[in-house]
Amino acid sequence: MPRDLDLLKSVFGFDEFRPGQAEIVEAVSRGENTLAIMPTGGGKSLCFQLPALIRDGVTVVISPLIALMRDQVRGLQAAGVNAGALTSGNTQDETDAVFDAISRDELKLLYMAPERLASGGTLNLLRNAGVTMIAVDEAHCVSQWGHDFRPDYLRIGELRRALDVPLAAFTATADEETRAEIIQKLFDGAPPRTFLHGFDRPNIHLAFAAKDSPRNQILSFAAARKGQSGIVYSATRARTETLAKALRDAGHPAVHYHGGMDAEDRREVERQFQQEDGLIVVATVAFGMGVDKPDIRWVAHSDLPKSIESYYQEIGRAGRDGAPADTLTLFGADDIRLRRSQIDEGLAPSERRSADHGRLNALLGLAEAHGCRRQQLLTYFGEDTPACGNCDLCTAPPDLFDGTVDVMKALSAILRTGECFGSGHLIDLLRGTMTDRIRDRCHDQLPTFGVGKDHDKRMWQAVFRQMLGLDLVRPDPERHGALRITEKAHPVLRGEAQVELRRDTLKTGTRRPTAKM
Ligand code: ADP
Ligand code: ZN
Repeated sequence: MPRDLDLLKSVFGFDEFRPGQAEIVEAVSRGENTLAIMPTGGGKSLCFQLPALIRDGVTVVISPLIALMRDQVRGLQAAGVNAGALTSGNTQDETDAVFDAISRDELKLLYMAPERLASGGTLNLLRNAGVTMIAVDEAHCVSQWGHDFRPDYLRIGELRRALDVPLAAFTATADEETRAEIIQKLFDGAPPRTFLHGFDRPNIHLAFAAKDSPRNQILSFAAARKGQSGIVYSATRARTETLAKALRDAGHPAVHYHGGMDAEDRREVERQFQQEDGLIVVATVAFGMGVDKPDIRWVAHSDLPKSIESYYQEIGRAGRDGAPADTLTLFGADDIRLRRSQIDEGLAPSERRSADHGRLNALLGLAEAHGCRRQQLLTYFGEDTPACGNCDLCTAPPDLFDGTVDVMKALSAILRTGECFGSGHLIDLLRGTMTDRIRDRCHDQLPTFGVGKDHDKRMWQAVFRQMLGLDLVRPDPERHGALRITEKAHPVLRGEAQVELRRDTLKTGTRRPTAKM
């Protein structure tokens, strides 16, 4: 398992598995015949690519789309994996390189279109190439009754018999008939290990709240669930300790857990949590891997997780027994800044960094969602679902308003001060608050000084947070805390795009809806 995670990180650049991936990777790596049904976009390719790296020999990948094959090969090669394709679109050099790698026993993944199986030479080639696994993408193409039928897919069964190696089949089409046909044609009717993954965990209630007073918000969430086992995830080790203490002071059995504790103490917390009822563990993300407790009733985040995948994985620890479970995720502008700068300061190459920003954006979009959260979460993982009725936004739909004018004011405050300041100073500027810094920089002379008097500070914090969430602004990686505007803000500044904001997160904790000043 740790080896899988190492490869996931070092080769693919992901910190955690998507839902379902870990089990499939494990089964495929062990050489079991498998059939995995996952929604499109769910991350199927990783489920054969990673095992191919773990296993000795070559994995043959049968895929119907040449363009997709070439994309995957390029991606793998860029990550340092020896992969190649034999397709009709190959240049002679590409084909030579593949044969060369095979003869040197260096090739790990060999992509091939099904048509290729029709030529007699292919079987010989594969026999001599040290093939130890066959992976079949879009396995439903073997179904004669489906609309994607590819006659050459019928040859895959033959290939499996000839090579006598395990086969892993993948598809997004889950209906019973297609499944039966795949089993018949690819596995000769011997049922493979089957993974049918919907990503939905309907018993888990989803909720987010803007950070107001995180300690009190967590305390009151826990107080309403007294006596139930729960996990609070926090971003720093120090915070796990102070929060655990606050919970104990409020009468809860609570302990902290983080990577800085010695192994013995950590095992003790895991043992206690597993065996006792009603314990609260306040932990960094280090907690959870080894925990298999079916009746965790709630999971709270005192700080924003780092990606939508982490969020899903962490809340997914609740309610494994299928009984109702509750979650609450707090988020604030500081979290967003922290997570962005962690990405920017990381050592990852630039395209990986921008993918990480994308995964964070997806989570921020979910935090400030305008409709059903489950729908938005599952859409991200490629699954369609109606509004769920079991999330905070289904219960209380958010109030939206046209926030374009506020956003323009904020953007122009950023631009007029040279993109050198953080939201604190910008809010003072917008609200016309005379601070030393404003005076020193003569920012009271700017036309934006005081244009945002009609909103109080909290309201402006929420506007900035939503702007970060919408990726209209980003922290400057070179200058601590300073905000820069992004490409996405340009159409807004040109007056070509409107921005909808959520009123309810704006009002969090404010007693006066409009401040008179
Ligand atoms: P599918 O074949 O199931 O439609 P892909 O294998 O093309 O999906 O994966 C869809 C997207 O998900 C890709 O952009 C891939 O990089 C991304 N992805 C896959 N696994 C992970 C993961 N564990 N964490 C983050 N992103 C992932
Ligand atoms: Zn919902």
